[in-house]
Amino acid sequence: MAYEFSLPGRTIIGDNALESSENLIKSFGKKAFIISGKNVTKIGTVKVLTDYLYKWGIKYEIFNDIIGEPTDVMIKSGVNAYKNTECDFCIAIGGGSPLDSGKAIAAMTKLEGSISDYMGKTMEGDFPPLVLIPTTAGTGSEATKFTVITDSKKNIKMLLKGEALLPDLAVIDSKFSMTSPRSVTAATGMDALTHAVEAYTSRKANSLTDTFALSAIKRIFEFLPLVYKDGEDKKAREEMAIAAYEAGVCINNSSVTLVHGMSRPIGANFHVAHGISNAMLITKCLSYVLDGSYERFGAIGRAINAADEKKSDKEAAEAFLEKLIQLCNICEIPTLKEYGINKEEFNKVVDKMAQDAMNSGSPSNTIRDITKEDLLTIYNRLW
Ligand SMILES: [Zn+2]
Repeated sequence: MAYEFSLPGRTIIGDNALESSENLIKSFGKKAFIISGKNVTKIGTVKVLTDYLYKWGIKYEIFNDIIGEPTDVMIKSGVNAYKNTECDFCIAIGGGSPLDSGKAIAAMTKLEGSISDYMGKTMEGDFPPLVLIPTTAGTGSEATKFTVITDSKKNIKMLLKGEALLPDLAVIDSKFSMTSPRSVTAATGMDALTHAVEAYTSRKANSLTDTFALSAIKRIFEFLPLVYKDGEDKKAREEMAIAAYEAGVCINNSSVTLVHGMSRPIGANFHVAHGISNAMLITKCLSYVLDGSYERFGAIGRAINAADEKKSDKEAAEAFLEKLIQLCNICEIPTLKEYGINKEEFNKVVDKMAQDAMNSGSPSNTIRDITKEDLLTIYNRLW
């Protein structure tokens, strides 16, 4: 069956990628609306960007009110700020939250109503040019047509989509992720791994996403332990930045599955960072679905050299799971209890979480048939 494969309009990746983006960025307009978070601003990352813009003769306004994961309220105030400042394009810089906000703000400057109106629909239109500059190696938001925004009234994380949300330019320069703290490095690295594994074992997987997925998985198993141990390992940072982009391309063109479906409700209800809630779930979810396709999971096991050709698919799949558990241990991924979540509070909302997860559609992309009962079983196994 034919399928579509899409990427950011342009991508500049590698050493000094920002410097190399001068002409493209100049072509987008004379005044940039910079979307970021307070931390990224405080540690001087935004200043690196604004120094270049100044040098290139581009004016700018900074909107750094993205605090934690973005909500409909933050997006609305970003749109108002954009409209009041006569900017002609957007640059979002930071982790997944500012990048997702950049997509949502750019879109809502042109669309009617509130962002919640677009849940389950396609966001399309002629939006202002958008540049995305990730400062963590993980979410892959720079390579996707998705944005996740919390509806603050309903307390759900909305997954919104549209080809027009893909950036016109993605700038991937590992100098921006060098300062990422260890806990963020682990969470975002595990998020990227989850993207690649889910895309590879999704019903929507295709030959092109398979190539990107296996490449990302290999890089992450090799370089995440290194960068977790030594954040100044430049080579490891570069490899993780490439892996995060590759994994983003995967979910853009295949899909996430069970882990992300179940992770979003944990994030929405208990304010667990996205990468951590994925990492809490990944081994439990994958061991649950492993027998749905030993062939696919076995191929991952062989790709990361956890098993050789002589091993059966089942053995190779189990060897992959073993390596995954080891990686979670190396990265010191907490359990729900260690994270401080109260079991009674969790049980009060677990039924709604399972329903929200099913409603998101992600679990049904899993290679094995998944019901709401299955999700409840897995949620219980987290304790
Ligand atoms: Zn993710």
